[in-house]
Amino acid sequence: MSKVLIIGAGGVGRVVVHKCAQAKEVFTGITLASRTKSKCDAIAAEIPHFPIKTAQVDADNVPELVALIKQEQPQLVLNVALPYQDLTIMDACLETGVDYLDTANYEPLDTAKFEYSWQWAYHERFKEKGLMALLGSGFDPGVTNVYTALAAKKYLDEIHEIDIIDANAGDHGQAFATNFNPEINIREVTAPCRHWEEGQWIETPPLSTKHSFDFPEGIGPMNIYRMYHEEMESLVKHIPTIKKAQFWMTFSDNYLKHLEVLQNIGMTRIDEVEYQGQKIVPLQFLKAVLPDPGSLGALTKGRTCIGVIARGIKDGKRKQVYVYNICDHEACYQEVNSQAISYTTGVPAAVGAMMMLTGKWRGDGVFNMEQFDPELFLETLAPMGLQTQVIDGGDWPEL
Ligand code: NDP
Repeated sequence: MSKVLIIGAGGVGRVVVHKCAQAKEVFTGITLASRTKSKCDAIAAEIPHFPIKTAQVDADNVPELVALIKQEQPQLVLNVALPYQDLTIMDACLETGVDYLDTANYEPLDTAKFEYSWQWAYHERFKEKGLMALLGSGFDPGVTNVYTALAAKKYLDEIHEIDIIDANAGDHGQAFATNFNPEINIREVTAPCRHWEEGQWIETPPLSTKHSFDFPEGIGPMNIYRMYHEEMESLVKHIPTIKKAQFWMTFSDNYLKHLEVLQNIGMTRIDEVEYQGQKIVPLQFLKAVLPDPGSLGALTKGRTCIGVIARGIKDGKRKQVYVYNICDHEACYQEVNSQAISYTTGVPAAVGAMMMLTGKWRGDGVFNMEQFDPELFLETLAPMGLQTQVIDGGDWPEL
């Protein structure tokens, strides 16, 4: 009997609820709570075969969360609200003695600062209470951590370099839209780039390094841009043989053109400005006028390709391995009314929960995905909808 409380009824929340409801052998009760209850009700109505309870909660408010957890009595809280709520939800889990899982690391509202320090600081408190927190159980972070751990465990004797490459070869037909929460997406993309090299972080201007990369399975060449992404921080900590770690993402020229203009005119600012006697944050206002990522599902065609090229030594020789997943936007929409970006995040969140609830991945404290057996996770990920492909021994150019 495993009851879960899912917090957040956005694009990712929708997929998590659908996928947990499909895995009836693990999930016997689901409560979906979010700031706007009507969004929870709309998702619950899509899944008539599984009774889903819904609730309203302000996840910035610890006493409210504690009251809801006490009322619902879940074994695990799946946090798919926004990164700003990570710490309050962790506090409520500690207070009520419940396990925790999320898909993105904590970020303070007023600074676009991506680091695990705040959440790693909870390790001792979770450990003392015999509780487990699993951080970053989405695709990137999440499956990319697992792919790196798989390369290190199965394909290389020693892993030295990783390039995490995230391609969205899909098209939603909109002039400008983001595939997940616009505020979080734009904060991430406009932040200074950092990559790991020889024991230190090297900072470069946002999106200033670009290559063309030829993606497999007919996707073909696309421009990839180097940026900072949070999984690199935990990977270089937990797999210290990694000497160089870089993260790359595809952006269309059209996306970059719009982003540049929005930045130049101040619309991506995250500080408050005075407008007609009211304080507004330009990026939050921009979010309100951009297309809701949830509405893109019906429009998006094409595929995503997210994976890791790992390089290192096998049997004394230098070797590369490319571990990746390809996901089709339209197939996702047919299955769970969502595009592939939310799907590739929501499925690993549900699978991470399955790992914890079945005891396949267990520990007391706060953990990242690469700290557990990657093969156990991938064995469950495939039947839940995301297949892993491995090209063992390719010769991709060094990025
Ligand atoms: P959305 O903006 O679509 O959904 C966020 C949901 O959280 C909304 O339902 C929102 O409510 C709710 N919410 C926000 N603030 C609160 C609050 N204070 N109390 C209660 N509920 C709240 O985002 P996504 O679904 O696209 O993303 C969800 C998470 O997944 C984010 O943290 C994102 O960073 C992460 N993510 C991770 C990825 C990965 O691969 N690891 C990839 C993509 C996303 P309301 O509707 O009322 O605003």
